[in-house]
Amino acid sequence: MNLNQFYDVIVIGAGPAGATAAAELAASGLSLLILEKSNLPRYKCCGGGITYKTAQLLPPAVRACFEDTIDTFRLSLNGDSLFENVSAQPLMYTVRRDQLDLALVERATAGGARLLQNTPVNRVWQNPDDVEVETGAGTWRARFVIGADGAESFTAAQVGLLSGTENLVALEAEVLVAASDLEKWRSRAALDQGRISGGYAWVFPKSDHLSIGLVSPPDQAKKLRSQYQEYQDSLNLAGPVIERLSGAQIPVFRAPRPVTKGRVALVGDAAGLADPITGEGIYNAVVSASLAATAIRQALPAGHSDLSLYAALVAEKIIPQLEVAAMYSHLLVRVPRPILKMLGRDSRVWANFCHLLRGERDYLDIHNRVTTLGGLSQLVFRR
Ligand SMILES: Cc1cc2nc3c(=O)[nH]c(=O)nc-3n(C[C@H](O)[C@H](O)[C@H](O)COP(=O)(O)OP(=O)(O)OC[C@H]3O[C@@H](n4cnc5c(N)ncnc54)[C@H](O)[C@@H]3O)c2cc1C
Repeated sequence: MNLNQFYDVIVIGAGPAGATAAAELAASGLSLLILEKSNLPRYKCCGGGITYKTAQLLPPAVRACFEDTIDTFRLSLNGDSLFENVSAQPLMYTVRRDQLDLALVERATAGGARLLQNTPVNRVWQNPDDVEVETGAGTWRARFVIGADGAESFTAAQVGLLSGTENLVALEAEVLVAASDLEKWRSRAALDQGRISGGYAWVFPKSDHLSIGLVSPPDQAKKLRSQYQEYQDSLNLAGPVIERLSGAQIPVFRAPRPVTKGRVALVGDAAGLADPITGEGIYNAVVSASLAATAIRQALPAGHSDLSLYAALVAEKIIPQLEVAAMYSHLLVRVPRPILKMLGRDSRVWANFCHLLRGERDYLDIHNRVTTLGGLSQLVFRR
């Protein structure tokens, strides 16, 4: 192993964010090294919901990983069924994350990126002209480093950017169910709000199992296991078998935080960019990775040493959306029933939900249609 090999960019972590950044930069002819601590394909605790808007950003070959197409959402409030609505168009796909992430990283390696698996990074060090990245297998240097190493980002901690973030905590199970149950859930996803205050439960169907999970604020995480069981029982499945049960954090956006330090950029979960309403993280993982790639493509030939363009792009294109989502997520926690009922009964609200998942409108568009937050609150409290 060449200990001193030099790359244009080292990407730490081969999830959707790292693989996307690596693929885009390798396609521009840059030399790329991806360092991944696991062996691929690796299991990732995740519901595996790919909204239609996210699917539009993924390379076409990845569509082979899609296991179901969701057009129906069933919503309930702490088990109290509120509605089931159907969209004429696809809203979401479901995937197994090991397969999706493998397909994305294979695109990067096919484009020329070098991948070292089973290689956890254990030190990141910034020099004036480059960044050193140390692993048990050797040390490499690069002009820029992309920290794409997930919710508990080692890279962020190394460069001093992981500051007291309060991530949501989630429990997810892959549950084998009878063929008749699988059939009932085909094309249908369920969300149950409020089982834990500030959290929600879900059912996402895959080709041969259901992903069932529950997400909670960190201070209520001790309720997760018992509430999970209650939720699964409430689904009346015939002889469900939990094949895999695991927990992980979701770094939903709370407030803007720095995404760069010198020659290091954080993307995806490492930058804390998951949607505070839905917990969807793959969309902004891919979007932020593309923005980081844009900034690096500009910085390299110009000989710049900082990535302020990336920070500016995140501030312009991602943060305003997440700020609106964070505001509505607080409202949803305070008054879930009227909001969810409105979603079920008011065809305009349901249409906006569908537009949001399909990427036809974003949070800002929808917020601008609801003239003021006061206007929405009045609407909500009147019902
Ligand atoms: C239970 C649960 C359900 C979820 N459901 C959904 C959903 O349905 N839809 C959705 O869009 N999002 C969902 N999310 C969020 C989504 O999983 C994340 O937002 C997404 O995986 C972020 O991608 P990423 O590439 O930033 O990080 P990750 O996918 O976490 O990838 C990080 C990679 O870095 C590697 N790594 C970590 N440390 C090191 C190190 N020191 N050295 C080298 N490599 C390292 C890891 O092994 C991993 O491969 C869910 C999350 C959870 C926990």
